[in-house]
Order: sequence, then structure tokens, then C-alpha cells
Amino acid sequence: MEVHLHPEEAALLNKVREFVATEVAPFSREWDTQRGLPDSIWTKLGALNLFGLTLPKSLGGLDVSCTLYAEICREFAKGDPALSMNVAAINALCTAHFTHFATPEQCEKYLPGILKGEIKLAWGLTEPDAGSDARRVRTLATPIEGRDGYWHLNGGKMFITNALKADLIIMIARISDTELTAFLLETNQPGFTNVERIHTVGVAASYTTRFDLVDAVGWHTPCKFEEAIGLLYRGRLGIAGMAVGIAERAHELAVEYSKTREQFNRRLCDMQSVQNMLADNEIDVTAAQQLLRLGCSVYDKGLPCVREASIAKLFASEAANRVTNRAIQIHGGRGMTFDYLVEKLWRDAKLTEIGEGASEIQRMVIAKQVLR
Ligand SMILES: Cc1cc2nc3c(=O)[nH]c(=O)nc-3n(C[C@H](O)[C@H](O)[C@H](O)COP(=O)(O)OP(=O)(O)OC[C@H]3O[C@@H](n4cnc5c(N)ncnc54)[C@H](O)[C@@H]3O)c2cc1C
Repeated sequence: MEVHLHPEEAALLNKVREFVATEVAPFSREWDTQRGLPDSIWTKLGALNLFGLTLPKSLGGLDVSCTLYAEICREFAKGDPALSMNVAAINALCTAHFTHFATPEQCEKYLPGILKGEIKLAWGLTEPDAGSDARRVRTLATPIEGRDGYWHLNGGKMFITNALKADLIIMIARISDTELTAFLLETNQPGFTNVERIHTVGVAASYTTRFDLVDAVGWHTPCKFEEAIGLLYRGRLGIAGMAVGIAERAHELAVEYSKTREQFNRRLCDMQSVQNMLADNEIDVTAAQQLLRLGCSVYDKGLPCVREASIAKLFASEAANRVTNRAIQIHGGRGMTFDYLVEKLWRDAKLTEIGEGASEIQRMVIAKQVLR
């Protein structure tokens, strides 16, 4: 299954490829070591309108297909998976939230700055007691008397990508025993406190953070929990794109290395057991690409893609972990050193099996579709 892009879409993907080659890939190791992305990256992404991928043109976006969105996530992952994760989440969860649920006033206030990369975003669902079981969210929202649309938020969130740097967080909170909904939360206010930067072994540059809220003011974006969470289907395809990019890059590096390293007077690539690993990588990469494209094509046809999005995310993320693991094996001891990129790709791949629904949750979703 080939990716069919219109000339306009192909041109945008080429632009992303050039951007990744010059502005991302050369700095990926440095960002990982320093555990942070430079602030300038946001405005550079904004200049290419890369925060507007899912926004309609009437709101200043590019309104690209899911296929192109996932291809862009894949390209970014080949350069830097942490940045890919941010691009994926911001477009599928944050700006898409504006498309579906924000009022015209909210769009007018925030979108111009978001699109330029001047307003940095995060998406907050997970809490210490609400992970896979997202309905257990405890952060409580109560209406502020006399301020229509504004609510006090009390509680906190954990594992939120980019929350340390974000100016605005789209977050889920509880309004009754049974109802959850979403709010826009400006971080520059006394009720918001970043309590802990969470350092992770992979995607280490992405400023994962835990924050607390004490009478913080949130602006309601009217939507039901199920509607807000529905954005995760395209989000999962973005994470699948990220996983495919990681797997492709690790596979390429393993092939290159196997052609240059010699032992027993033979190149590694001439040894049967190394060839077996390369063949298994080729199968994993190809199958992950195909499942990703299938999921995106179903989404682009406007059909329900719950099953396909979970299958693509599950398979691509597990494939990325297998491929990066084999890539290290092919590199031998050098593969475990910080001098070779495969160790970083292996660390980064792990997130794809956990974020936006861990593999076990994807299996539950798929089984439910099979058994319905
Ligand atoms: C680097 C990073 C970035 C993240 N970014 C964000 C973000 O931007 N916004 C956000 O809201 N969240 C974010 N998360 C949180 C992420 O979505 C959660 O970590 C994930 O949903 C799993 O929740 P948990 O960590 O609480 O694990 P748990 O839910 O405690 O799960 C632990 C294990 O139990 C398994 N398990 C749980 N329930 C079941 C079940 N019913 N059946 C079978 N197995 C089960 C899980 O699959 C997992 O293997 C991020 C996490 C990381 C690590």
C-alpha cells in the first residue's frame, strides 16, 4: 500500500524533510543530553504552519489528511522522536480540540499565537490515580460565580508532555460524580504550579512534568469526556507514525553498520544470523508502515477507525521496540554506547508502547471490536 499524496501535500512533506535534515536531526543527540528542546524550535515550526496541520483553513490551518499528518510525524521521528511526539500530540489533541470544541472567542484569543509557535501547548489528562483508567480523573472544576464560562480547578496532573514550557494546557477535569469535560488553562497564574520535572529514559527532551492546581482559573470548552477523548484515534495514528519513523531509522542504521563492520574476515551483513535480524526488521517495518497507512486511509474516508487506529498503534510501537532492540544487537557493544544513535532510538521507542494508551489497552480496544 503506497502513500498517495497530491502535489501540494508532497511539497509540504518535502519541506518537512528538509527542515528535519537541517534543523532537527543534527541537534537530536544534544537535545537528549541536555534534556530539553530549544525555545526557538517552536517559532520555527510555527513559520511552517506545523501547528495548524489539523486545523481547518478558515481558522488559519492547513487541514491536512490524516495520511499526511502521520507521514509528518514519521519524518519528525526519523530526526528526533521527542519532537515528533510533541508535534503529534499538539496537532491531534491540542489544536484539534480548538477545531471541535472551542468557542469563536477562544479561537480568536489563542489561535494566532498558537499557530506562530508563540503560545506553547500541552494536553493534560493523566493524574497520579488516573492513568489507563482515565475516568478516575479527580481534578475538580467548580463554576466561578459571576464569571460565565470560567471555573476553578483544583487537583493536579502527571506525565504531561511539555507542561514545563507550556503557556496553555488543554485539560480534562471533573464537574460532577459522573461528568468530565475540558478546560483551557493558562499556566501564567498563581493557582498553577509545576511541582516536578519528570525525567524519563526516552523522549528525554520533551519536558514531561507534574503540576498542581489550587483554585486555578480554567476556561470551559464545552464538550463531553467521550468527545474530547475521541481525538485520541487520530492521535494514536500519529504515535504509530512516530513509531514507524523510529523503526525505519534504526533499521537503516543497522543495515549500514552491518556492511562496514568485519569479524572473522567477513562483514556482519554476510553472516546468516545477522541477515535473519535484518530480514525480521524489514518485515516489522513493512508491516508497521502498511497498518499505519490502512488506519490513516480509513480515517481519511471518514469511517470509524477505532480498530484500525489501535491495531496500527499497537503493532507499530511493538515493532519499533523489536527493531531498535535488534539494531543494538547488530551493533554489538557499540550499540550500547552513547556514540551510536541506536541506543537513543531504543529508549525513545518505549514511549510509543505507553503514551496515548498502553499496548494492553490497545489490545482491550481491539478485542472489544472483535467481540461486539
Ligand atoms: C513520556 C510520557 C509522556 C506522556 N505525555 C502525556 C501527556 O502529554 N498527557 C497525558 O495526559 N498523559 C501523558 N502521559 C501519560 C500516559 O498516557 C500514561 O502513562 C499511560 O496512559 C499509562 O498510564 P499509567 O502510567 O498510569 O499506567 P497504569 O494505567 O498504571 O498501567 C500500568 C500497567 O498496567 C496495564 N493496565 C492498566 N489497566 C489495565 C487493564 N484494564 N488491563 C490490562 N492491563 C492494564 C497498563 O497497560 C500498564 O502496562 C505520558 C507518559 C509518558 C511516559
